[in-house]
Amino acid sequence: MDKKLIGVDLGGTTTKFAILTVEGDIQQRWSIDTNVLDEGAHIIPDIIESINHHMKLYDMTADQFAGIGMGSPGTVDRKLGTVIGAYNLNWKTLQQAKKEIEAGTGIEFAIDNDANVAALGERWKGAGENDDNVAFVTLGTGVGGGIIADGHLLHGTAGSAGEIGHITVDPKGYLCTCGKHGCLETVASATGVVRVARDMAEEYAGTSQLKQILDDGNEISSKITFDLAKQGDPLAKMVVDKVAKYLGIALGNVGNTLNPACIVIGGGVSAAGTFLLDQVQAYFDEYTFPQVRETTKLKLAELGNVAGVIGAASLALEFV
Ligand SMILES: [Zn+2]
Repeated sequence: MDKKLIGVDLGGTTTKFAILTVEGDIQQRWSIDTNVLDEGAHIIPDIIESINHHMKLYDMTADQFAGIGMGSPGTVDRKLGTVIGAYNLNWKTLQQAKKEIEAGTGIEFAIDNDANVAALGERWKGAGENDDNVAFVTLGTGVGGGIIADGHLLHGTAGSAGEIGHITVDPKGYLCTCGKHGCLETVASATGVVRVARDMAEEYAGTSQLKQILDDGNEISSKITFDLAKQGDPLAKMVVDKVAKYLGIALGNVGNTLNPACIVIGGGVSAAGTFLLDQVQAYFDEYTFPQVRETTKLKLAELGNVAGVIGAASLALEFV
């Protein structure tokens, strides 16, 4: 009998779980609230309890599973199976995820960071079409990334490979949380788009609904900005053009460096869909050299919020 996989996508507000076949088809899916109280001390016990509870519920036992894979925020040590510095989980000290989850469930455990597992998910069952060369960028609260090159997920010497969000797109740009200036994340994350809109609105002299909303002291979002741009608002269109240009520079250089079959764009900001994609494509074409321009495709992510559990489960394929 084929063994099953468990994928866990650990996030700051919810933790998502899924039971999958080794082919990557989801059979069961559930989620729990992530309890970040008491320095995140409840998180791992809650995960163990939830897995054990659902195994019982589905009348399954530990030996029917090849392994558990988990995507986590923070700095992950894949070998030791530990996490540190996941501040949205209140995890400031070293967490023994592998040791505790293996002991608590009796199932082997593998871990990687959340952006990498989302990349693995989109590569395996989503827009990546299981190609050996896929880059993934997620435009959300921050900008994350993951790179599969020649069939392998890249980690780099300190586990920091694929951090597309910290590619410099404007040397004189905004200060990033990482301490340097002009990172892609400062202009292409949800908050980055709003920051670009605010600054451009200050200098904009024409008529614009986006400017009106800001001048009235109301909040805007990246979604409002994209929606207004779609409706033809002149300032909103300028903002989207600028964001698209920065994305074109960053993704163009990802293409020039790695020549993947595709660069998959996911995350909340990518909900702007083909409207955003088409504009990024124009700049991507401008900033890539011919062989890359002709062979590396830009695509929208297809899996939405299940990319994490699917990619996480794929980590456990090493135990099959
Ligand atoms: Zn940065």
